[in-house]
Amino acid sequence: MSVQKIVILGGGESGVGAALLAKAKGFDVFLSDKGVLKESYRKTLQAANIPFEEGQHTEERILDATEVIKSPGIPEKVPLVQKLRTQHIPVISEIEFAARYTRAKLIGITGSNGKTTTTLLTYHLLKTAGLNVGLAGNIGDSFAEQVITDTFDYFVLELSSFQLDDMYDAHLDVMVLLNITPDHLDRYGYDFQNYVASKFRILQNATLTDDFIYFAESQPILDELAKRNPMVRQLPISLEKVVSPGGYLADDQLLAANKDHSFTISQTDTPLRGPHNAINMLAAILAAQSVGVTNEAIANGLKTFQNAAHRLEPAGTVNHIQFINDSKATNVDSVFYALSSMDAPTIWIAGGQDKGNDYSQLDKLVDQKVKALICLGIDNHKLVEYFGEKVPTIYETQSITDAVMKGLELAEPGDIVLLSPACASFDLFKNYEDRGNQFKAAVKNLMMNA
Ligand code: ADP
Repeated sequence: MSVQKIVILGGGESGVGAALLAKAKGFDVFLSDKGVLKESYRKTLQAANIPFEEGQHTEERILDATEVIKSPGIPEKVPLVQKLRTQHIPVISEIEFAARYTRAKLIGITGSNGKTTTTLLTYHLLKTAGLNVGLAGNIGDSFAEQVITDTFDYFVLELSSFQLDDMYDAHLDVMVLLNITPDHLDRYGYDFQNYVASKFRILQNATLTDDFIYFAESQPILDELAKRNPMVRQLPISLEKVVSPGGYLADDQLLAANKDHSFTISQTDTPLRGPHNAINMLAAILAAQSVGVTNEAIANGLKTFQNAAHRLEPAGTVNHIQFINDSKATNVDSVFYALSSMDAPTIWIAGGQDKGNDYSQLDKLVDQKVKALICLGIDNHKLVEYFGEKVPTIYETQSITDAVMKGLELAEPGDIVLLSPACASFDLFKNYEDRGNQFKAAVKNLMMNA
């Protein structure tokens, strides 16, 4: 039999990792990227003797593939992908490819919001317990590259809907679905149901001995479960009622019961605040219980967890005024949870590139908690129009240093200044990380001069 030809579309972290794995497994490999490769990836490919092209896609070579591994960033509507479909050439994701070569148990985590937090926390709980665990998917180092040596017993995988779309046979032992709210609809024919179906692909190879952890107050999840009635062990999470097996929040207590384990902790004893983080923590606890992590290790792990930056991240305190960086909140739903998490009067810094936001979801919270709104964007008219009558003080600026100084001026001791923009950052910043870093630097500066 001739050697199978694997073509990889997209030369980012996942594509280069897939190329290395394919090469290690003896395939004939070719990588093609329409853009420019990062220098470090170019060097890696050269060192591994993997042929590649950049700035173009050579169709004859790509359409000659036995199988194509496509980057999640390349949309279905691209003509080349359409051609692959018409010619019935299988297109898979790096996750699907890598899963063929690991003996590790897989924990897959998806949702519209909260994936990174829950993935990092689950990984941390398993690691604290001393398990031999790797972290991959939509985060960190490529899954494919990590399975070349295949030294881990477990992998915690963050899965975006785009990765799920090109997964078929990969079997997950534990599956987490946090929520489904409208997102990325441009990639799903502007049909929410297509996006829901994509998220539910996480269940496609589930069996009765696998665990499915999900937030039971997400209506789209409930509707879809009622339609499908999947054969899998179900572990719901609730913020409203007692569930067992499953996890729930009662007052400040997080309670999780799964198999023979039952675990309780007070949310105040954990570093993550807000109802959304109660869901994320319960999901991570249930997943850890599924693989046998002890209560002691879970408690230790929760107490020592440090979330990724820019997600309700404490940025410093000046004159008893706390500054919080939630720059990753680029949609209204995440601001809803950020404001829900505030336990003191709040000066809210918002704005940037609007994505068709509907702010009405925030009315009640803004009324209860926000004493001033600082609009930080090139075009603030939508925020000013919507909140003009609703918030006592509104201030506009294009400078983050000015926004932070104004926050300090408007706040009283005990108040919170929260950056939670509800918008993309590209009007004034490189990305959300840049926005969050500039915010933190401005707060540090205030702290030094206080
Ligand atoms: P993702 O990886 O899915 O984008 P993150 O953990 O990076 O998720 O969080 C993105 C934003 O969503 C942050 O502003 C965070 O505070 C908010 N968030 C986190 N978890 C949830 C959740 N379960 N539901 C809604 N919003 C959430």
